[in-house]
Amino acid sequence: MEHLTHDILVVGGGAAGLRAGIAAVERSPKLSVAIVSKVYPMRSHTVSAEGGMAAVTREYDSLDSHAYDTIKGSDFLADQDSVEYFVKQAPHEAVQLEHWGCPFSRDPDGRISVRAFGGMSVKRTLFATDKIGFHLLHTLFQTSLKYDRIHRYDEWFVTSLLTNANRVEGVTAIDIRTGELFTILAKAVIIATGGCGRVFQFTTNGWIKTGDGMALAYRAGVPLKDMEMVQYHPTLLPNTGILITEAARGEGGYLINKDGERFMKRYVPGKMELGPRDIISRSELTEIKEGRGFEGRYGSYVELDLRHLGEKKIEEKLPFVKELAEKYVGIDPAHDPIPVRPGQHYQMGGVHTNIEGFTGLGGLYAAGEAACVSMNGANRLGSNSLTECLVYGAVAGETVADYVAKQPTPSFGNPVQGLAMTEETRIYDGLLKHENGERTSTIRIDMQKGMEEHVGIFRDENSLREGCRIIEDLKKRMTNSTVDDKDRVFNTDLVSALELDFMLDCAEAITYSARARTESRGAHSRIDYPKRDDTSFLKHTLAYRNPNGPRMEYLPVTITRWKPEERVY
Ligand SMILES: Cc1cc2nc3c(=O)[nH]c(=O)nc-3n(C[C@H](O)[C@H](O)[C@H](O)COP(=O)(O)OP(=O)(O)OC[C@H]3O[C@@H](n4cnc5c(N)ncnc54)[C@H](O)[C@@H]3O)c2cc1C
Repeated sequence: MEHLTHDILVVGGGAAGLRAGIAAVERSPKLSVAIVSKVYPMRSHTVSAEGGMAAVTREYDSLDSHAYDTIKGSDFLADQDSVEYFVKQAPHEAVQLEHWGCPFSRDPDGRISVRAFGGMSVKRTLFATDKIGFHLLHTLFQTSLKYDRIHRYDEWFVTSLLTNANRVEGVTAIDIRTGELFTILAKAVIIATGGCGRVFQFTTNGWIKTGDGMALAYRAGVPLKDMEMVQYHPTLLPNTGILITEAARGEGGYLINKDGERFMKRYVPGKMELGPRDIISRSELTEIKEGRGFEGRYGSYVELDLRHLGEKKIEEKLPFVKELAEKYVGIDPAHDPIPVRPGQHYQMGGVHTNIEGFTGLGGLYAAGEAACVSMNGANRLGSNSLTECLVYGAVAGETVADYVAKQPTPSFGNPVQGLAMTEETRIYDGLLKHENGERTSTIRIDMQKGMEEHVGIFRDENSLREGCRIIEDLKKRMTNSTVDDKDRVFNTDLVSALELDFMLDCAEAITYSARARTESRGAHSRIDYPKRDDTSFLKHTLAYRNPNGPRMEYLPVTITRWKPEERVY
């Protein structure tokens, strides 16, 4: 098997991965950095972000206010030291991005515009109409092109981490175009592989968000933290799961039930449509359950009403929302309300890291949605994620650049070589050659349905026990699965089977962690334990991989200045 060598290997070419790569080469003038991405970097999920990125940029705002909003939004599960660092760095990252050329929307006086976002007490979300992800990712991607020490492996799929004596020394990766498996050795690896939303049936997440990096770390013995904290976004198109950005409510949109009533007055009267996502998603389901929803071809829904904003404002501030409503529902939001319902959107949990992005396994770091640093706790505020990718991507890149300066280059000897050969056998002699097994698509569908039904917005012991049983059963079925395409060249069937295998690990960690947390906090809503329980659960869940279901450990939450209080809006 051929092997390649770099100082640092970043898995992921989205916002977190590119920011980490740029930070590493800027920190140290000699390093060779590899960015491996299973899709061309501009196709990473970051590209689809719509609403904006949060940072304190106005005189009426303050770092403490951004920190408090984030911590309260997290239902006090966020580590407050990571939130404080985040809010302090956020304005620098925003200015840096602007200097690199990000075309933010601007006010007439030339300042970057800011808009309201859910759970934020003032307007602090910077935006580029409603296509921030495209512009932000483009800016990072083009900046990365300046550095010839950043080597890209586009459309390469990482299948495993190679470890030696409690240290990571590289990865195995398939060049999807040829189907050849390579070993890429590195002194350090940064996981920036994004979320795992595809574990669920109804999600805003792209097909590629399959939790690969979370599973890679989990398999290497690193715990997954707070995986039970799954964010549902309140406004997805019922037929497709396509997101209608929170910016639509930030710009003044209403949520209405079938009686034409702005029902959020019953749930968060102080914030109305700009309450946090967990509360709004639950409110929508309650309206539907109590008979005040609409019934349509694709199930129950409520409506997002933008009519009062007028055509001009919609066109100027929300052109993408207009385009999506026209193309996917056949309506013009200036004249008709948009049907919406909640769906999976974001994974607060992820690979456990400390504030420097370090996972505890020598040489292994993580950043972005794949990681849990943890600044989102039990519920992320919209528009904090892109900024998190920048802030903590940069932290990981810089920390790793310093770390590798003192590390020897790994050699292609054992045990790494042996592990790579075993991986080759597992994929090509095992999965690819296996005949007469079950098709992976049926396993995937059953996983997504099972997670949606048993591990969704409202949970209880019975549903979660059933969720655990389903996942264990699916894991067994996975060992007897078959891919139809037996060729090596551009075998997307094989890649999606490997992705499904990763997703089952994420689904397991989510379900078991949710079952063990017998309280309700943020996005984790247990109907059998409706109250938050700070005495027993003001702590992070750490799920360690184990053959008979994960082993749970817990870690105290870091509290700096904000004592937990009741979360009312
Ligand atoms: C529709 C939508 C709208 C959003 N809008 C906003 C918003 O307005 N504001 C906000 O703050 N947040 C928003 N979010 C959330 C935010 O966009 C994401 O959390 C963030 O972009 C994640 O970035 P990332 O770099 O961590 O991962 P991603 O952008 O998902 O990138 C992951 C990278 O990892 C690579 N990868 C994964 N697995 C492998 C593997 N096995 N081998 C090789 N490469 C691999 C992929 O190719 C990709 O390059 C939105 C999310 C969605 C889905």
